[in-house]
Amino acid sequence: MPAGGTLIAGGRRQQALVSFDNIWKTYPTGAEPVHALRGVSVAVMPGEYISIVGPSGSGKSTFMHILGCLDTPTSGRYLLAGTDVSRMDEVNLAEVRNRRIGFVFQQFHLLPRLSAWRNVELPLIYAGVPRHERKARALAALEQVGLSNRLEHRPNQLSGGQQQRVAVARALVTEPDLLLADEPTGNLDSRSSADVLAMLDGLHRAGRTIVLITHENDVAQAAERVMRFRDGRFIDDGEVAA
Ligand code: ADP
Repeated sequence: MPAGGTLIAGGRRQQALVSFDNIWKTYPTGAEPVHALRGVSVAVMPGEYISIVGPSGSGKSTFMHILGCLDTPTSGRYLLAGTDVSRMDEVNLAEVRNRRIGFVFQQFHLLPRLSAWRNVELPLIYAGVPRHERKARALAALEQVGLSNRLEHRPNQLSGGQQQRVAVARALVTEPDLLLADEPTGNLDSRSSADVLAMLDGLHRAGRTIVLITHENDVAQAAERVMRFRDGRFIDDGEVAA
């Protein structure tokens, strides 16, 4: 996989959705600066399902923050869908984030007083989508995650796995280019984890681009490509053996 721009796929030249070129992130703390990322170069093609695995402190969160346009690198270049986002200010970053990236976190971050579909509708309110369109899109997103039969349930009336499905529907409702899942199964029992991973697999097969961050090897294996992080670098970049 090239670190920069393009890949020839089936004779077609395809643009990378994500292109990191020699990304460094240094935190100027104390006497010794901390190099959280040390020259990361990676490309993510549209439709890929990648997991990032590595021990605590290896730089996964820092990587995810930059990938998700929550932070910018100290040096290096990050192209997202061809746009250089490495030096963007917070206002522009927020705009890119809202338009292109759907986030799923370990804690589901659902609003407890709102029903499933009202939770999923929220990003569309922020995006200024008209009311009549919002409900239809929220329902369609919940259908994609297999929750059409739980539209009016509030979070405390749903299982952990179902709550995470609602969170995934909320991430998808804006039609982002990239679904970024940070330890999405970290709060779930093994059955619900399997359930959420099966759903991500279905979304991948439907063409979604997914990056999953985890410290659990068996969760990482759900993706088609597992990338290992250690000391701020990828140590290998292998396809998962079938
Ligand atoms: P992981 O997510 O794999 O646990 P992190 O990206 O959180 O790793 O951290 C990578 C390294 O950067 C660690 O040594 C951590 O202590 C350091 N680090 C992370 N965030 C900050 C920060 N805001 N200020 C200073 N050091 C940080």
